[in-house]
Amino acid sequence: MIEDARKIDPGTRIETDLCVVGGGAAGICLALEYIKSGKDVILIPGGGPNQTADGIDLYRGGVSPPRSHEPLEENRLRMWGGTTTVWGGRCIPFDPVDFEDRSWIPHSGWPITQEELNPYIARACALCEAGEADFDARSVFPDRQGEILGGFDNEDFASWPLERWSIPTDFSRRYAKELEAAPNLRVLLHANAVHLQMDVGGCTLSHVMAACTPGRNFIVEAKKTVLACGALENARLLLAARDILPAGIGNECDLVGRFYQSHLFGVCGHVTLNNPKKDFNYDFEKDHEGIYCRRRFWLTPGAQRKHGVGNAVGFFFRPVSGASEHRNAMVSSIMLAKTLLGGARKGPRRLIQIVMEQKKDLLTHLGIVLKDGPAVFGQLAAVAYTRFFQKRRLPMILSPKSTNRFHLFFQTEHIPDAESRVILNPSSSDEYGMPRLEAQIRFSETDQRTVRTLITLFGERMEKAGLGSFVLSQEDQDRLKGGNLQGFNSNAHNIGTTRMSKDPSQGVVNPDSHIHRVDNLYVAGSSVFPTSSHANPTLMIVAMSLRLADHLKKLG
Ligand SMILES: Cc1cc2nc3c(=O)[nH]c(=O)nc-3n(C[C@H](O)[C@H](O)[C@H](O)COP(=O)(O)OP(=O)(O)OC[C@H]3O[C@@H](n4cnc5c(N)ncnc54)[C@H](O)[C@@H]3O)c2cc1C
Repeated sequence: MIEDARKIDPGTRIETDLCVVGGGAAGICLALEYIKSGKDVILIPGGGPNQTADGIDLYRGGVSPPRSHEPLEENRLRMWGGTTTVWGGRCIPFDPVDFEDRSWIPHSGWPITQEELNPYIARACALCEAGEADFDARSVFPDRQGEILGGFDNEDFASWPLERWSIPTDFSRRYAKELEAAPNLRVLLHANAVHLQMDVGGCTLSHVMAACTPGRNFIVEAKKTVLACGALENARLLLAARDILPAGIGNECDLVGRFYQSHLFGVCGHVTLNNPKKDFNYDFEKDHEGIYCRRRFWLTPGAQRKHGVGNAVGFFFRPVSGASEHRNAMVSSIMLAKTLLGGARKGPRRLIQIVMEQKKDLLTHLGIVLKDGPAVFGQLAAVAYTRFFQKRRLPMILSPKSTNRFHLFFQTEHIPDAESRVILNPSSSDEYGMPRLEAQIRFSETDQRTVRTLITLFGERMEKAGLGSFVLSQEDQDRLKGGNLQGFNSNAHNIGTTRMSKDPSQGVVNPDSHIHRVDNLYVAGSSVFPTSSHANPTLMIVAMSLRLADHLKKLG
């Protein structure tokens, strides 16, 4: 049942078997699986079906130093469905190497293996509507060449690994019917968890204090509770509950909020191929179920070990700057649409500001579209149709092969570091009195070296295999040398703030996602990941949530 919690009288006490706090991919998938046990579930989603100004404000916080992280209310959606209401849908499992204890990566190693997770990854693929859990181009497309570029792969690179793309599934809409029909589930729309109340002994969660409006609190008293609010809010709720445990819940060893990880992303350089018409698997491909898939250049575990760097991938992308040097109607249309629609979403004042700042580039793009547009009009219309009007959306528009100018997008693991963290800001609270967060994300020399190694090896391999040239602009070279991370954007890849370890002195949760030393409190989502891989997190978030649901079902 999905109901409006604003009708619940203040002071009401609701008893249940399981309370799930958070209504994003983690919370919804956990609830969907757990309700099969027949036990009662209350889900507190932290908002209603739409994003509101009040919801945005609840996520505001600080960033230190300024501009080293996007504002905390950007990218995260405080609402029913959470961030899956806007996500892109890229689904990638972590690699076996991500679970290993790697001597060259401090704090690496998971207490669980990839083999153990494989069945859950298959189930997660189904929930994400991303097809079969086969991520190997050689078996998914047996009649085609495995590599992106014939002759590219060697001991340093493999380009057969696939990413799969979800519809992208908005979990709150896609699973609304099942959730609505479940007699043992109540989704309390608009309700927020505003305090986690421990019992006086500090070993058991007594209840979750919830509210839709400040001061009108009600209580959810559950045998077990799971926090599924995303990596930043999971840490915030635990740290803010200090009335019984002065350091917060699960924080005896000062680990909650630490090891905050994301990924390093960026676009750099450009490739010109000697023959873009030959043996080049660059576009999105559809598998036998019609699921979009795409190959990536993966730095092999051997190369990671040899160079002492983290896990990393690259793929060809269109330019991200407004520079109109590529002179192509298709690319110019994309740039115009992205800049103008993106600006319009931020309001008329921001749109005017963007147009004034980028006037020269925008006019050049417009000129290219008007001049060459008619020649590619059919192509443009077909691409726009697959991108915007089909149920399964074309994940992104790529520059056509004929441009023979391909930019390298990189996405790399963020090495765990205790000093990369979120903390509570003692002098700023939200309307419910919850202290706001401050993000202090840090990147190490190994992080910078991982990016540089991927890019350098990629360029060398391109030349050596005789496939083409890879040219970095002076600006790219300076950026890669200097490690200037001003303007970093996590893209909502928030990882690691309640990390998992068998050893309570090294982790906040145990391998069952159970908070050490607290009887009945669990954590779902990427906050429990000890390391970040290069992979976007949602598929793994769903897999780990299903694993936790199975565990809780077994406990009875
Ligand atoms: C534009 C964009 C594109 C993305 N593309 C991809 C992609 O292609 N692939 C990928 O893997 N990932 C992608 N992501 C990231 C992905 O969306 C997130 O990793 C994922 O949705 C996180 O799921 P979650 O359930 O852990 O957290 P969230 O989606 O953040 O959900 C948290 C939930 O907790 C609720 N909540 C928060 N605080 C409280 C509280 N105090 N009380 C009650 N409820 C609370 C929120 O309202 C929300 O319902 C993208 C993100 C963005 C913004």
